[in-house]
Amino acid sequence: MATKWEFSAGGVVFRKNENGQVEILLIRVKTRWSFPKGNIERGEPKDQAALREVKEETGVDAKILDYLGEVDYWYNIGLTKIHKFVYYYLMEYLSGDVVPQKEEIDEAKFMSIAEAEKSLSYSTDKEILDRAIKSMKKLGIL
Ligand code: ATP
Repeated sequence: MATKWEFSAGGVVFRKNENGQVEILLIRVKTRWSFPKGNIERGEPKDQAALREVKEETGVDAKILDYLGEVDYWYNIGLTKIHKFVYYYLMEYLSGDVVPQKEEIDEAKFMSIAEAEKSLSYSTDKEILDRAIKSMKKLGIL
């Protein structure tokens, strides 16, 4: 069986609501909730890919505050095994209405940290949210 590698980058985007509570931007594809992310193009820096994918998938402009680390997982396409790496950044929301990309995303929305913890479908993403919470505490946001 052939093995291929894939490399994506994405963001844990946060903003504060009118009550000062931190909200996190998640996307839904079919029944699965995760963070916005996508393929790193050839020669493209990871951080730029992450910002570009957040904008393309959710309509949101953000700025990077911290690097949260990578996750990896395996999946199959036909007879090919894919080993995928995703590099995540903590991002602060800057501007833009939340508009899910029509072709790929069924829903995009900001939700409370508690709701995000419950909604995230993959354990790797839950780990990234934990790291984002630690980072926000370190930066004095939480
Ligand atoms: P990208 O958003 O990077 O362009 P994609 O939409 O092509 O990628 P993935 O989101 O990586 O693809 O999904 C490919 C497969 O991996 C799907 O079957 C999905 O359910 C599964 N998957 C996605 N994220 C994770 C994860 N964090 N852990 C385990 N499996 C995952």
